[in-house]
Amino acid sequence: MYRRSFIKTMGIVGAGIASGATTFLSCTGSDVSNAKLKKWVWIVPESGLSEGEWEIRLDKLKQKGIDAVLVQVYASHTAWYESDFLPVQEPLLETLIEVGKRTGMEVHAWIWTMPNNNPYYIENHPDYYVVNRLRKPAHTHPAYVGYYRFMCPNQPGVKDFLTRNIRFLANLGGLDGIHLDYIRMPDVIIAEALQPVYNVVQDKEYPEFDYCYCERCRQLFREKTGADPLKDLDDPAASKEWVQFRYDSVSSLVNGSLIPPIQQKGKQATAAVFPNWESVRQQWSKWNMDAFFPMLYHNFYNASLDWIGEQLISQIRALDKPAPVYSGLFVPALTAEELREAVDISIRSGAAGYALFSYRSMEEDHWKLL
Ligand SMILES: [Zn+2]
Repeated sequence: MYRRSFIKTMGIVGAGIASGATTFLSCTGSDVSNAKLKKWVWIVPESGLSEGEWEIRLDKLKQKGIDAVLVQVYASHTAWYESDFLPVQEPLLETLIEVGKRTGMEVHAWIWTMPNNNPYYIENHPDYYVVNRLRKPAHTHPAYVGYYRFMCPNQPGVKDFLTRNIRFLANLGGLDGIHLDYIRMPDVIIAEALQPVYNVVQDKEYPEFDYCYCERCRQLFREKTGADPLKDLDDPAASKEWVQFRYDSVSSLVNGSLIPPIQQKGKQATAAVFPNWESVRQQWSKWNMDAFFPMLYHNFYNASLDWIGEQLISQIRALDKPAPVYSGLFVPALTAEELREAVDISIRSGAAGYALFSYRSMEEDHWKLL
């Protein structure tokens, strides 16, 4: 979720990371399982780096024990690949696929899914966007932050847009997988520690943040139940059917349209998902993904490191179809010693490995533990 803002917000915490330098205890009880762990890093790319510079980076990451990189190549506007319909930032992905082959690093295309901040779509397809319970659409009235322009999972044009982008990526030879981020609706309730950041108090579901009440969603729900969620429900937030309808809207899009074109091309379909999935209408325990990356950013929930383990245990148990679950760790909020502890807790709790958010936040002290 709001990764850019989070980094900014949590930057004060992150600045203290290096001060807690500790010696990594190499003889932990988790050494055996460590050998089988898969280790990932999320990378937000900088523009203008040469192929040689990327090769040095991926090579260093490989030497540090990282198996796969998730590179953000589409963040709701421009593409870092030669897209046939989106504005191209730089054809970085094609370069990284080649560098990945040479360095033995798995390369996954990390893309934002539901937000669309491309001016062309804002201008020409206002019907694509989700509408809140106050009837305000997200392209003109985004919640929390300006880029929260989410599209509606039930709009046929949205499905076409998303599958076109995914099919293009799935056709890239040598790419290992597609990592879907932001597959959800806007947060009806944001994480506790972030509410003061956005100057909101959300002790219940407020209409301003509650989606989607577009004509199509209302019509589909009316066909299913006979009720219009906007006119016939006394308290939409209390209607189990209406809540489930939103979960199912996202899940149908994911399982029916987004995952198949990835897997049909022999690539891994993975997703970055929320621990508090109800708040973003993201019932990912029902999804047919090849792997899941819950963002276990404990500090956003005012939680301790033990919470990471508790979340993993319940999330792995909840999955309809077993799949590897990688513990997504928020490095700016972790000292080197805490990162080691978070990794140990994750392994003990059944994680298949971990993913570090993000590349730029990793200090030398953090790497020592790997
Ligand atoms: Zn809708």
